[in-house]
Amino acid sequence: MTLLDGKKLSEEVLLELTEEVKLLVAKEQRVPHLAAIIVGNDGASETYVNNKVKSCERVGFKSTHVKFPETISEAELLDKIREINNNKDIDGLIVQLPVPKHIDPDKITQTIAPEKDVDGFHTINVGRLALGMPTYVSATPNGVMEILRRYKIPTEGKHCVVLGRSNIVGSPMSILMSKNTNPGNSTVTICHSKTKNLKEITIQADILIVAIGKAEFVTADMVKEGAVVIDVGMHRFDDATKKSGYKLKGDVKFDEVAEKASYITPVPGGVGLMTIASLLMNTLKAYKKEIYS
Ligand code: NAP
Repeated sequence: MTLLDGKKLSEEVLLELTEEVKLLVAKEQRVPHLAAIIVGNDGASETYVNNKVKSCERVGFKSTHVKFPETISEAELLDKIREINNNKDIDGLIVQLPVPKHIDPDKITQTIAPEKDVDGFHTINVGRLALGMPTYVSATPNGVMEILRRYKIPTEGKHCVVLGRSNIVGSPMSILMSKNTNPGNSTVTICHSKTKNLKEITIQADILIVAIGKAEFVTADMVKEGAVVIDVGMHRFDDATKKSGYKLKGDVKFDEVAEKASYITPVPGGVGLMTIASLLMNTLKAYKKEIYS
């Protein structure tokens, strides 16, 4: 079994980005700039945004971290997004979800200019993804593709089963794996909460990508011998023995599934770290105007 080491890969990506920034600085050019907006005081969201900002600093990107109280109105938030859309110094903009209930997340996503939408959530970018056009692929599915690409895992003609059909993970993941690309060219089955006989389907998977949001849901009896298993799930459990006060688990029961898998991502240390690396890769694309000239 080979462990798909997201930590090692993300370090690799961050080093590549650092080198690109060094070249820009040597030429006295502007560096890529990511703006991140967060609303409210949700602990997990704050951690995600802080990690994104820290990673920007690490590679030499500029970052702007905008914090709003939970009470900000939708109109004020949309105004801030428009202001950043018009700021020529900022290349990419993300608004950390979820936002408080009085704010419509769809309005947020649709107000971000598609050319700055480095999270890849705008309908135009999702549409471009579906049509196989150049786009910002949302960070988590992009991170999974990067893992498959960098580990040179054969995907062509394989049966890829995706567990979950969310707009941010399962759905784009299934589209990407079905495209005439490498990685890609798989025969894809997408499963969700209404899928009958789930185990009968997962056991056929050469590549099993799991994003269902249920801790340790996938057990060894659901996995084919030699399958490639990608665990997107992330769940926090209190753990006083950890410095952070919590431990992370995925959607896959790692210890028993690892015994059957040919490749598997751990949690933590797998997909999560590649998600941030992907966001920064998208920011560089935005800076270089690779998608929208
Ligand atoms: P989500 O929006 O809750 O979607 C879960 C999907 O799983 C839905 O499509 C749901 O089906 C399906 N599902 C739920 N229970 C099921 C069951 N018993 N059998 C089959 N399908 C089932 O979750 P998400 O946002 O995609 O996230 C999934 C997981 O990935 C979460 O643990 C999340 O924390 C994690 N995540 C990690 C990263 C990262 O950077 N590593 C990023 C994003 C998300 P229906 O559509 O029918 O409801």
